[in-house]
This record gives sequence, C-alpha cells and structure tokens, in this order.
Amino acid sequence: MHNLTLSDIARALAEKTFSAEELTRSLLGRIQQLDPQLNSFITVTEAQALAQAKAADARRAAGETGALLGAPIAHKDLFCTQGVRTSCASKMLDNFIAPYNATVVEKLAAVGCVSLGKLNMDEFAMGSANESSHYGPVKNPWDLTRVPGGSSGGSAAAIAARLIPAATGSDTGGSIRQPAALTNLTGLKPTYGRVSRWGMIAYASSLDQGGPLARTAEDCALLLGSMAGFDPKDSTSVDQPVDDYLASLNQPLSGLRVGLPKEYFGAGLDSRIGAAILAVVEELKKLGATVKDISLPNLQHAIPAYYVIAPAEASSNLSRFDGVRYGHRCDSPVNLEDLYKRSRAEGFGAEVKRRIMVGTYALSAGYYDAYYIKAQKIRRLIKNDFVSAFNEVDVILGPTTPNPAWKLGEKSSDPVAAYLEDIYTITANLAGIPGLSMPAGFVDGLPVGVQLLAPYFQEGRLLNVAHQYQQVTDWHTQAPSGF
Ligand code: GLN
Repeated sequence: MHNLTLSDIARALAEKTFSAEELTRSLLGRIQQLDPQLNSFITVTEAQALAQAKAADARRAAGETGALLGAPIAHKDLFCTQGVRTSCASKMLDNFIAPYNATVVEKLAAVGCVSLGKLNMDEFAMGSANESSHYGPVKNPWDLTRVPGGSSGGSAAAIAARLIPAATGSDTGGSIRQPAALTNLTGLKPTYGRVSRWGMIAYASSLDQGGPLARTAEDCALLLGSMAGFDPKDSTSVDQPVDDYLASLNQPLSGLRVGLPKEYFGAGLDSRIGAAILAVVEELKKLGATVKDISLPNLQHAIPAYYVIAPAEASSNLSRFDGVRYGHRCDSPVNLEDLYKRSRAEGFGAEVKRRIMVGTYALSAGYYDAYYIKAQKIRRLIKNDFVSAFNEVDVILGPTTPNPAWKLGEKSSDPVAAYLEDIYTITANLAGIPGLSMPAGFVDGLPVGVQLLAPYFQEGRLLNVAHQYQQVTDWHTQAPSGF
C-alpha cells in the first residue's frame, strides 16, 4: 500500500481494494516502525487520523467520490492545526496548541484528506538542510548520513521513505523545491498569492508560499487543485479562478519553448548534475519542445538581496514571539524587559537569532537605504529578467540545486555555504513566479532535481511538462533501499 501514489490510492479507495481506515492504520504502523531513523515527524496524530479516515470511509459509503477523500497526507509544522501542537520546529512554540486551522489545512480536510501528523522542518523555515530544528535534524532516506534539504525536510523525507504519499510544504526561497530535489520528489511552489498564507506561520511574508510535495506531478496537481484559491482572510491572496490542473496534464508538448539560462550552468554547478539536466532537455526535445539559450543577468545578485529581504521580514514577523501572549516564557522574570529578553534568548535557536539580527540591522535607521531599499531594487531587476525571458520562452529549465545532498553537519558551521545552495531557487520567490522541481536522475546514488519555472499563474503548464516527462522516464518511481 505504501508504494501507491495519491492517484493510485484514489482508484483503490473507489474500487474498495482497501478502506481509508486500513490504509491509515498501515501507514501509522510504518511511521512508528521507520520514522525513528528519519525523525521526519514532530507529532503523529494517530487518534485524529483514524477518526478522519473513518469519516472519509463513511462519506464514500454515502456516495461521495472526491479523489482526495481518504487520502493520507501530513502537514509541515508551520501550518496551524486546531487542537494540535504547531511548533514551527522551535522551542518557542513547543507548547503552542493552535486554536484554529490554517486555510490550507481546512481546505484539504474539507475534501477528505486524512492528516497523519505534523512534519519536522528547519526552525521557522530558516534553512536548507533541516538541521536547525529544535527536535533534531531530519535524515535523508537515500543516505541516512546526509541531509534531506530544507526547510520542508520532514515533508520530503517522509514521502521519499513511503511513510506518506504526499504532504504540504512552504517555500520562501526554495524550501519545497530543494528538499524535493534532494530526495527524488516532485514539489511545486505556486505563484505568490495562489495559495492562502492564512494560518501558515510567517517567515518572510512577501516570499512565503505554501504548496504540495509528492512523488509525481499528477499528485501535485491533485493537491494544488484543493489547496489553491482566493481567501478573504489573506490580503495577498489573489482573487482569480483556480485552473483545472488535472485537465491540462495531458496536453502534448509540441511547440513548447524551453529556455536554458546560461547563468544556471556556470561555475558552482556540479558537472554531473549539469549533465543530468541536459539529458532532461534532450527528453523534452523528443516530446516536441524547442530549446533556446537565454540570460537572467541579475542572478548573481539574488543571494545577497534575498538574505537581506528575508531576514528583514523575519525580524519583524518574529517580534510577536515575546513570551507574553503565547509560546515560551522564561521562569521568574524580574521585570518586563527581562521577560522579553530571556524568553526570546531561550526560545529561539542560533540560526533564527542570526536572521533576526541581520534583519534588524538591515532595517535600522541609517542602514535601511543602503541595504533594504537596495535589495528591493535588485528584486525588481530580477523580476524584470523573468518578464523579458518569458517573452521568448514558455518555461525556464535548469538545476534545482548546485549539489546533491550533503553530509549532516557539513555546512552547519558555515551559514554562507548553506545560503549558496539556494542560488537557483530564491529568484522565483523574489519575482513571485511559480517553480517546480522533479526527479532527473542520480549522482553517486543521490537524487538530482530539475527545476522548471513559468510565468505568473502558469502552475498548470509546469505540471503538464513534468507529467509528460514522467510518462517517458522512471526516475520518480525509484525508491530508497531500506524503505
Ligand atoms: N534556505 C532558504 C532560507 O533559509 C529558504 C528557506 C525557505 O524556503 N523556507 O531562507
């Protein structure tokens, strides 16, 4: 059962091959047996999952037929889940029981998804390795001595190890696409505003976007169709109808114009990854695509701009964790200032503190123009690069990451080395465009991801290209041994 995709599961549930309750029990058993090796779950909600599964079975028995009715998933632990701890992988929120559901959680529950629990992540989604979690690092099922990527590393590891077929994630600078690449999954960051951020604990509000991770593009299409949509509770949510992502999966790719940015294939890229990406291009050509060399000249400025803007927004967003209203509070504060200082000093981990300090510095009077405003100007230039590239091509293709999964601890003492791993993913967040990563081969037994980028609201095009590629290749079906 655990090898089935969401679409397989939908068929099996419709044909009564097994019930949602049987499937849920079987996956809960796998989580109990295998997750101690991975640490992908922070909280397993067994009783709630069984209740949701039984409810889904009852709805099917009463004649309902939705594809996700009874589909097992789990949520990254930054989506608020009513009555269930929502920790953001931080000591700060270790005791926080969310009083309401995030819109994404609510929407997926409404169509009958069964949530098995809350997934590990980098603390407050800051990281590329899932090593900054208060609950300990997540291991990559392809090699337990390596990182799964981050910050949605728990989502990625749990799906890759076949503990769950799909999960939610969030992507501020690559946190869906990068872990998908390092664990052989398909992950989609939607256009900014496509998926409601309401109830998704904020890291950098102008960059954050929730989205699906799964093994196939088809499953991402299935999930996105239910996650996306206008939400009056999120002022940046876009009031535009949701496309039928499943319906466009089978469009032929003849005439598709694929752009290869020369900056994505330069220094810093592992040449074996470069070769795997060019093999994807050859495959797409066989499917009818034409290829064009393009340029995204401001790529070199992306990391410095991102690592000013994201920490700046984080420093503002995280000021709400003050030890007063909710979250960690230090013991016996002597006065209000002591309460603030010690609660925050004890509640936040090193990476979060680093971001708060960088962000506060960049926003402070005297430095605001030199750093924050300048970074915003670069952001506009990066957006303009994409707008002009998409005048010439329909999708942009390149590697998702410059390297395959690295060893646990390898980059943890050098934050800048970890920041450099985000080079190919952060521009989509700065511009707000959608991006997808999908399996594209292996280097030394470690997965390689290829990234596709598209114009605003063209998630359907990304899923279409990925699905067509997955019809003629089998990288995405490969499973790590031992799981
Ligand atoms: N690695 C990037 C960061 O640490 C992106 C994280 C994310 O997308 N949440 O900020």
